[in-house]
Amino acid sequence: MKKIFIMNLGTTSFKFKLYHVDGDSMDVRASGEIESVGAAQSRWQYSDCNGKSASGASPVPNHGAGFTLFLEMLQVEGLLRSLDDLNAVGYKAVHGGNLSGTRIVDDELIAEMERVTPLAPAHNPIYLSAMKDIRKNYPNLLQIARFETSFHATIPDYRTTYGVPYAWREEFGIRKYGFHGSSHEYIATTMQKLQPEAKRVITCHLGGSSSICAILDGKSVATTMGATLQSGLFNNNRVGDFEPFCLPMLMEKLNCSMEEVLAILSKQSGLLGLSGVSNDLRLVLEAADQGNEHAQLAVDTLVDNILGYIGMYTAYLGGLDALVFTGGIGLNSDIIRSRVCEKLAYMGLVLDANANNGRTDGCISTTDSKVSVWRLKTDEESIVAMNVCSMLQ
Ligand code: AMP
Repeated sequence: MKKIFIMNLGTTSFKFKLYHVDGDSMDVRASGEIESVGAAQSRWQYSDCNGKSASGASPVPNHGAGFTLFLEMLQVEGLLRSLDDLNAVGYKAVHGGNLSGTRIVDDELIAEMERVTPLAPAHNPIYLSAMKDIRKNYPNLLQIARFETSFHATIPDYRTTYGVPYAWREEFGIRKYGFHGSSHEYIATTMQKLQPEAKRVITCHLGGSSSICAILDGKSVATTMGATLQSGLFNNNRVGDFEPFCLPMLMEKLNCSMEEVLAILSKQSGLLGLSGVSNDLRLVLEAADQGNEHAQLAVDTLVDNILGYIGMYTAYLGGLDALVFTGGIGLNSDIIRSRVCEKLAYMGLVLDANANNGRTDGCISTTDSKVSVWRLKTDEESIVAMNVCSMLQ
């Protein structure tokens, strides 16, 4: 039996799950999260399989300190006897450049993550800092990274290539990598159990950060994000696909640097920028209902964006057997699901209105629909844990 501590890190957030893995069975024994890492007081919460739950606030200066906080808690609560009781820590790491898949955190991995940090500036530094801290403080602890690009390693070269000088791909790694791999992989694996005959699947991971993936026989063959997490669908506050030749004009008109324009495109655009209301779709939908035209435009653009990629990916797949919605928006917004699906009636896709309005995970299309539609909760950490465990074995 293996004990694995999985970390999912955000700029100021820290989430963990402690897994017990025994053969094919995998159990979450404890989980917790910290908000406002780096603030004077960070709020944390913890719960475990013994029914213990606790929350509090204390200074957690960085993500490495977050690990120590929970490591000590797990020992106090008897979930770990000592550090040696832990077989490995696993990261849902983001951008590994030329390294994808599941890898031991070593000098080579750290160097490659540092090299591609300009392509994932909001994510890689956090993971690197945690990896280095943990290496320094717990030198004998095995650290393993599962990259978010991994599931997309099967996308053919002609679909990961930009129309730029070929040398850029070779020398600088300017190519599409794709992200949210653990989520798309979880859905692909789940669909193989739920509907094994569905060979051509499109997964829509719609949330604070969104991407769509085309899956053929369980393997990713296309995805919307590219060299960075910025491209593809527009997100809550990210622009998504955008025309790079507008940059010089924006710099001149706004009298600001390239970094400042990029910050607007990545933090104040998307739903927030278009609607001027919020980066939360719930509030944008409410404003649209009350007649706010910009909010309505933001919703219409989002639906159209999703629909366009589904059309493109259906062509790539040569048809479609199943369409899956996941992520905060995909799971919770019956409106977005129904607005997208009503435009897919030409495929013979028919949504079951009652199932779509309900709150239960599962199939939400009618029995005679030619394409099945699903609302499924994703579980990214379990994919990381499974891959880490396979590596240990
Ligand atoms: P995630 O990042 O996957 O946790 O998704 C978070 C996002 O889901 C939030 O920013 C909201 O915009 C969106 N969301 C959550 N619940 C709903 C809902 N009932 N309707 C529309 N959007 C929602």
